[in-house]
Amino acid sequence: MSQAPSPAVRIGGLAKRFGEVKAVDGVDLEVPRGCIFGLLGPNGAGKTTTLKLLLGLLHPDAGTLEVLGKPVNRFTLPDLLQRVGYVAEGRDLYGYMRVGELIGFNARLYRNWDHKAVSRYLDLFRLPMDRKVEDLSQGMKSQLALVLALGHRPELLVLDEPTGGLDPLMRREFLSLVIEEVAGGRTAILSSHILHEVERVADLVAVMRRGRILAVRAVEAIRRDEKRVRFVPQHEISPDDLRLPGVTGVERQGKGFVLSVSSDLEALLQRLAAIPHFVLEVVDLNLEDVFFDYMGKEESTP
Ligand code: ATP
Repeated sequence: MSQAPSPAVRIGGLAKRFGEVKAVDGVDLEVPRGCIFGLLGPNGAGKTTTLKLLLGLLHPDAGTLEVLGKPVNRFTLPDLLQRVGYVAEGRDLYGYMRVGELIGFNARLYRNWDHKAVSRYLDLFRLPMDRKVEDLSQGMKSQLALVLALGHRPELLVLDEPTGGLDPLMRREFLSLVIEEVAGGRTAILSSHILHEVERVADLVAVMRRGRILAVRAVEAIRRDEKRVRFVPQHEISPDDLRLPGVTGVERQGKGFVLSVSSDLEALLQRLAAIPHFVLEVVDLNLEDVFFDYMGKEESTP
């Protein structure tokens, strides 16, 4: 009997404190293989700490961590790190080396280094092989960090704010490369503040705040199900009359209302159409709206 493949990442009850700060506070998360997984959250939410725990760069206070089917510990890490590529938030590259030297250095660290693929990436980004790493622009450092993270053909790519310093055109090229790699069967975890960028590339997103995961959603499901309906009735009605099935929130706007809807849109529209109205219109939501909705809900929770 064949077993289902293990997810790329499985995290259970993960916790990490720094003094009084609960950076990661009981995180459960599963990242399926072959997807781009967006990790979203405001500054200090615990994203970088979670990613560092995943890579064995920090030791958890509690919880379980499994990467590519293996528990993360000092016995499994040397092999796991051969199978994972990491772009760190601060880019931690050896600044005194020249680009070519740093690539040669990494090539010797990894048993699966793919010289052909690396040459292709270097051509794509037009990175100067003889320049010192510390003299590169921020954007060039981001590009080099991605080349280094991809050079050993990792099964899992962990990208922490990877597009910092890139201009919009280069950001697009950078993310196209990530999409291409994932289409080839890899998995990528992408932590980012640039929500429209995550929306464009990610299959799944997790929203994190104060060390906890607030929600995990498929981007496709957000596009399909999350809507707002603007409704201006002809006669005064109470907001309570609009708390119908599928409606998750009712807000007054001028003479009318904005309803947040997450399911049963068609049935809702039929019911609203029966109420005399001036305006009944559906507005699509994007990831940014949904993200701020989660932040707002969390803010009002004691
Ligand atoms: P950002 O988007 O700003 O990078 P983040 O979501 O990645 O934020 P983390 O860097 O994981 O957040 O930080 C989570 C919390 O843990 C913050 O309050 C941060 O100040 C704290 N923290 C992180 N690393 C350390 C450390 N080495 N020592 C003390 N506190 C830390």
